[in-house]
Amino acid sequence: MRFLKILIVFIFFFAILSSVFVIYLAKLKGQSFFGKIAREELIRHTFILSYANFNAPGDMKFLYLNPKTNSLEVNLRFNNNFAPDEDVEVWIKNMVKETTGKIAVINRFDNLNIAQNSLSDYELTNLEKEINKSHAIKLNIIYVPSYKEKESLAGIVLSRDTIFIFRKAIDTLSEDKKTLKRLEKSTIMHEWGHLLGVEHTSDDNCIMSERVEVYDKHMLEAEQIPDEYCQETLFQIEEFQKSVGK
Ligand SMILES: [Zn+2]
Repeated sequence: MRFLKILIVFIFFFAILSSVFVIYLAKLKGQSFFGKIAREELIRHTFILSYANFNAPGDMKFLYLNPKTNSLEVNLRFNNNFAPDEDVEVWIKNMVKETTGKIAVINRFDNLNIAQNSLSDYELTNLEKEINKSHAIKLNIIYVPSYKEKESLAGIVLSRDTIFIFRKAIDTLSEDKKTLKRLEKSTIMHEWGHLLGVEHTSDDNCIMSERVEVYDKHMLEAEQIPDEYCQETLFQIEEFQKSVGK
């Protein structure tokens, strides 16, 4: 009997230790070979995702793509000094439909309070924390003026469920209304691609091309800006979706 007790206690501690080790691997060694595999497994579970707080872009992809739900809540935040384009809801709905097959349910909040003209990673992360307190599966799109570390950046993702759009940077980069619209749309789609776990492609005509994010040249022309997902990207997303629940 005594031996059995010791064995049970041993197994119990071993299980806890190995879980902690796997989470450690996935969180802190996420770029290593085993870390990647562990992370890819762990982020499939809502419970682990929330409580071990996996919060990098792409960590929510399996939940976003889970076919069990047929809608996705999208919270759009801005204020009247840096508001989205009038067509933004159509873009979001089409984008969510095309990539996940879901219907986007959009909530608008036009009372975002921001004093700074450009924000650092630290300030953006704090803003996110202030706004986003629940663990619910949703997408946040937050419009802010510009990015402190790189003034010409059009958008960024720093966590698993939030897209920042740099409204002032987009204005500065665009010569006319047509370019402005296209740049804003493609930036939202590009960042959403990252939240779905897609990385940059080398094809300059893809939405997921790195240049969609990093425009160094000022004054762009609309035709230079890709505004559709490539087959390659859609295929990758489809593969993630197929593996949900496996
Ligand atoms: Zn990117």
